[in-house]
Amino acid sequence: MPFTDKLLFSKKNIYTTREGGELSNTEVLESEKTSFINILNRSDVQALLKAFMNGSISVLKPVMGQNGDFTYPEAEKIMGTSTRMTREILEALSEEEILTYEVFTVSIICPYCSDNRFVVELVCPHCDSTRLKIGITIEHLECGYIGFEEDFREMICPKCRKRMRALGIDYRKPGVMYKCISCKEFVGEPRKKYACLKEKHVFYENDSVSKEVYSYTLNPKKKDFIGKWIMDLNPVVEALKARGLSARTPAKIRGKSGVEHTFTLFASGDNGSDIILIDVLVNDRPIDDSALSLIFKALDVDASKRVMVFIPGLTEKARTLFDYYRVLPNMRIIECKNINDVSNMILNVLNPFVEAHPRIK
Ligand SMILES: [Zn+2]
Ligand SMILES: [Zn+2]
Ligand SMILES: [Zn+2]
Repeated sequence: MPFTDKLLFSKKNIYTTREGGELSNTEVLESEKTSFINILNRSDVQALLKAFMNGSISVLKPVMGQNGDFTYPEAEKIMGTSTRMTREILEALSEEEILTYEVFTVSIICPYCSDNRFVVELVCPHCDSTRLKIGITIEHLECGYIGFEEDFREMICPKCRKRMRALGIDYRKPGVMYKCISCKEFVGEPRKKYACLKEKHVFYENDSVSKEVYSYTLNPKKKDFIGKWIMDLNPVVEALKARGLSARTPAKIRGKSGVEHTFTLFASGDNGSDIILIDVLVNDRPIDDSALSLIFKALDVDASKRVMVFIPGLTEKARTLFDYYRVLPNMRIIECKNINDVSNMILNVLNPFVEAHPRIK
């Protein structure tokens, strides 16, 4: 179904996301087959692809969100989708090579819960103590003693009590080091111990998992293909607005059942009267009877006019089924071969209705 946010389609998504979006494998498998067409039919996805096609966006870069998560605010804004849904859509589109992805950054994640916010502690690699002292060190080359600068008073080595002569001759400065207060060892590079903020899982840097975060661009090779899927309903919106109706595309509407549906286009008069619902479903071959759910969705919302457009058309079986609903007075079922004709077809169907509506001066 192109209209529910509950559909999760990416094969990559068979894992538990940090927001707690657990997926069962069956959900993924069921939707896998038709998922791609469903994605392209989503009006929010169409809005995103349109923005790529007309050049209003060229690259989607990840931005660190408030909870440390990488988000794509530009895509969220265009599609009106949640952070998680946005990410899934981008992944699904890149899996189908509609979008090309590139590594933008690599972030460390908790190997247990995938959180990427941590408290990082430095620990002694010898005894695991966190009691480390930092300072500038001196090494007395004659006896091999290493100590903090402040312990070498008047150039006397605290170990062998000999006076040191010159830097580079009988002593050197190895630089900043840590001294473990517990085991007294000097440490050049302490180990890094991470504790994730979410679940307080503790792990060392070398046990961490890194996660690639991507930026997305439109695959130029798919422009022709996308052009066959995305439609421009702006002429319809403009025509409806010119008649004083308010119109938006896409539109989320809560039905009588309480379920929220997305329609390709929604228009209404001033006080919510004269509701027009339009849904367009695109496919690469005639659409079968699975599209019947579109009717039930439309019937869940009170409307004066419901228009359903199927591109490139319906299968014989689906047509027979839909004929039953064609007779409903406020329902129009249209088969349209070419996506470029959609606007005109819808305008033709709506014309009597729009003409009847008083024009606002
Ligand atoms: Zn964790
Ligand atoms: Zn010494
Ligand atoms: Zn130690």
